Amino acid sequence: MSQYIELFISDCKGKGLSVTYQRLAVFKCLMNCKNHPTAEEIFSHVKIDHPTISLATIYKNLEVLAQNNIISKVTPLHDLARFDIDTGLHHHAVCIKCRNIIDIPNDDFDSLSIPTQISSGFEVKNYKIQFEGICNSCSKLNH
Ligand SMILES: [Zn+2]
Ligand SMILES: [Zn+2]
Repeated sequence: MSQYIELFISDCKGKGLSVTYQRLAVFKCLMNCKNHPTAEEIFSHVKIDHPTISLATIYKNLEVLAQNNIISKVTPLHDLARFDIDTGLHHHAVCIKCRNIIDIPNDDFDSLSIPTQISSGFEVKNYKIQFEGICNSCSKLNH
């Protein structure tokens, strides 16, 4: 068993969530597709091994896992929610054409100073920087 899965199981238990096969299947799928898939994309993968699973079940489990901070929910450009196995501090570049999301782990942003307008009385737990633009493969299409 990979250490990701062990961590997932202990995370679930620590948060009082039972480790159902549906949750495990959703998590394994996120582990394998690191491109921030939508619920529908996860559904189409999970369905292969679990043909009886419904899209509603996938949605429900994704929401529960996101609420418990076991996965994170990304909604770039106010689009369909996308899901991310990485709940740690990292940032995203989003292509405005194909809606691809690229992870940007960058230490420079980790020490960003919090603007004074929000620093009093507001405890910042996390933040995300989102770069929007046109990705390599989309810009090639235009030339
Ligand atoms: Zn693109
Ligand atoms: Zn990400």
